Amino acid sequence: MRKLLFQSLFRQAFTEPAPLPDDAAVTELATAIGRAARRRLGRSLSIREVDAGSCNGCELEIHALNNAYYDVERFGLRFVASPRHADVLLVTGPVTLNMREALERTYAATPGPKWVVAVGDCAFNGGLFAGGYACASGVGEIVPVDLHIRGCPPSPTQLLKGLLALMEDASRR
Ligand code: SF4
Repeated sequence: MRKLLFQSLFRQAFTEPAPLPDDAAVTELATAIGRAARRRLGRSLSIREVDAGSCNGCELEIHALNNAYYDVERFGLRFVASPRHADVLLVTGPVTLNMREALERTYAATPGPKWVVAVGDCAFNGGLFAGGYACASGVGEIVPVDLHIRGCPPSPTQLLKGLLALMEDASRR
């Protein structure tokens, strides 16, 4: 026992090293999203996250957008608590049977103009959980989807790139 404790003091962590931060790229992406949102909406972009049955891996990456490193709120991207205040619904997970109605009601409660972004491979087509007894389907079969951001899970930078593509496309219309 003493030997194990002693070894644990000097053993390296088993986890992978964190990727090097790329401040400039994040700042550029988030600034461009804020600018495109102001062009299209005349104000900041409000995002409502909807977990429709994910494993929470996608949520961890979405939550990272608000951590001290990404801190996207400083660029005018706000996560809101109600769909009534949202412009974008960020939906994760294969839609489970239990969450299907909640997703439909959340979509109905969101005022236009509104966009739905399906985040992760599960949200695209059920991913790992496709065909499972508790799953309905991908998000696109329940509510209209404007953009899929693939990945299992997609990184915060991929999420920002997706939101930028969405806002640029929306501000051209
Ligand atoms: S895409 Fe991957 S990380 Fe996201 S909910 Fe599905 S299994 Fe989890």
